[in-house]
Amino acid sequence: MSVRTLKLALCLVVSGFVLAAIYFTVVIAERQNALRRITRYNPTWQANQVLNEFMTLDQSLRMFKDGAGDIDKEDVELRYDIFAGTINSLAEGGFREVLDQEPSFESTIHDLEGPTNDAAPLIKDLKSPNDALAALQVLSPLQSSLKHLPSITFNYGAKRASWDHQELTRLHWIFTSIVGCLILFGISLIGLLARHNSLLERTYRKMGILTADLTHLAHHDPLTGLANRALFQKRLEQLLSKARDNGSTLAVLYLDLDLFKNVNDTLGHETGDQLLKTVATRIRGCVQNNSVIARLGGDEFAILMEPTNVARECTMLASRIVKEIGTAYDIDGHEIVIGTSIGIASTELVASSPEQLLKQADTALYRAKADGRGTFRFFEPEMDAELQARRALEVDLRKAMVKDELYLVFQPQVDLQANRLLGFEALLRWRHPVRGSIPPGEFIPMAEDIGLISSLSDWIINEACKTAVTWPRNIKVAVNISPLQFRNRTLLPCVRKALTRTGLEPSRLELELTESALLEENEATVAALHELRELGVRIALDDFGTGYSSLSYLRSFPFDKIKIDQSFVRELSTRPDCMVIIQSVVSLGRGLGMSITAEGVETEEQLAQIQAAGCTEAQGFLLGHPKSASDLDLSPNERSMA
Ligand code: C2E
Ligand code: MG
Ligand code: MG
Repeated sequence: MSVRTLKLALCLVVSGFVLAAIYFTVVIAERQNALRRITRYNPTWQANQVLNEFMTLDQSLRMFKDGAGDIDKEDVELRYDIFAGTINSLAEGGFREVLDQEPSFESTIHDLEGPTNDAAPLIKDLKSPNDALAALQVLSPLQSSLKHLPSITFNYGAKRASWDHQELTRLHWIFTSIVGCLILFGISLIGLLARHNSLLERTYRKMGILTADLTHLAHHDPLTGLANRALFQKRLEQLLSKARDNGSTLAVLYLDLDLFKNVNDTLGHETGDQLLKTVATRIRGCVQNNSVIARLGGDEFAILMEPTNVARECTMLASRIVKEIGTAYDIDGHEIVIGTSIGIASTELVASSPEQLLKQADTALYRAKADGRGTFRFFEPEMDAELQARRALEVDLRKAMVKDELYLVFQPQVDLQANRLLGFEALLRWRHPVRGSIPPGEFIPMAEDIGLISSLSDWIINEACKTAVTWPRNIKVAVNISPLQFRNRTLLPCVRKALTRTGLEPSRLELELTESALLEENEATVAALHELRELGVRIALDDFGTGYSSLSYLRSFPFDKIKIDQSFVRELSTRPDCMVIIQSVVSLGRGLGMSITAEGVETEEQLAQIQAAGCTEAQGFLLGHPKSASDLDLSPNERSMA
């Protein structure tokens, strides 16, 4: 039975109860009336009284006539008045009912009234026995009528008693039924109240469970089941005050997944959610039970622990988490590789408030990210100043594009066999008004972090194409592509737009992608590369040898060019294995139909060595420094020298 039905039933029972009680009161009143009627004074007796009074009057008149006894006129008058009074009373009181119900009673009274009234003057002037005789004669017809009177009233009384009896019996039954109903209502009421109570109890129990669920929800992240920011904050405050009281140490590890946004952007939010769940499970597997693990939002996690040796325990935990999270994931058939950066702060370095401790961990995290991600850093006081400086630089970078502080320089790429200029690689520069020239290695990751990379890349590609279109038609331009932009899938429309806008032949544009852009080597990545290739642009694999150098990249997509990273060229004279590697890459490229460019050629010796290794194309300071567009030497047959 639902609570609603129960309430309805309760209302009905209570209404029934009230109605029955009211009716009960009415019945009691009726019963009282009936009883009163029965006990009311008896008309038959009164009718007899009238006859008696008549007899007494008659006797008094006779005695007056005969002069017997001491009867005088006053006595006769008194008897007459009493008799007349009893006649008058026949139309009042208990006789009213008889009058209403018995028509013969009314005519009888009428018969009585005439002679009685006629006798009145005679009795008033009563002087002689003859007067008394005359009065007796006037009154004599009354005798027979008066004899009828008791029988009429008696009959009526018998009828009345039978009616009242019936009425009493009826009332008795109603009375009994109502009492029965009241008892039934009472029992139903008790039953319903008991049911109501049990429903209430059940509701309270449910509410208890719900309240517990709500409390859990209010303190936990629904996706991962970890503590949420509110609970983390609460626990941090509790543990911090405990640490202050007993001198123990508290440490906060602040985690942020590296480039998690890409997973969401490329594989969708469902996969992103699955990944976050798995990450949470892996973190749980690394952390001791008494520590608090929380998801603070998005891809940010935090761990609260009470280490006895901060440096040792936090280092161990952070290294383990970096390794665990960095291990490839298989989610819905996608192989995902993602890293994490961790910032660590502890109460060892006076941290008085939860906010301060969290801020320090955040600062250390920022540093870990700036230091190349996939690592952890402990907070150090100097970091605050560095962070301020970096934040200021970020603000400047946002303004740099509109303030015309960014520009491109171009470094020649040379065909060693034909001894001719092949093209130029466009390299980005930032002329900071205070700090001077800032290298791209410093501000490009920053542009990626603050979400500026797409608009920056748009500008670079457009600018490079705009410059290259002014060069002789056999000279190409190479543009570096941020892995983030490639994975965001914004590259294709951007390249298409730049080519259309500037009119550069697609075959003169070469896109340099690093291995990190291809980390998730899956169908979507390969399809994106093919889409770019279909535009007619060339694709080069940049800095080969610094990343995973997985041969599967080369197998899955036919790059036009492989650029051997300058670190191999730099160490050619000191490390013989570099020579072997370059030779291998050259023969691999030849086999796959890809041209090989050696980067960072600075000396004639290096040039001779890479040529000996079979490299046919090169780039480096020996062959030309990066220069602004207006300073370029575009002579087609001579390789430009620095
Ligand atoms: P990268 O694509 O490998 O570019 C070559 C880098 O090596 C350039 O540094 C260039 O100046 C330097 N280089 C060239 N020859 C030599 C040499 O003989 N010796 C030495 N020591 N270095 C040489 P740069 O311009 O500082 O750029 C560094 C990296 O920044 C680039 O490496 C590239 O990954 C990135 N970058 C530069 N411009 C852009 C850009 O427009 N967009 C993107 N996404 N990344 C860029
Ligand atoms: Mg490059
Ligand atoms: Mg390179």
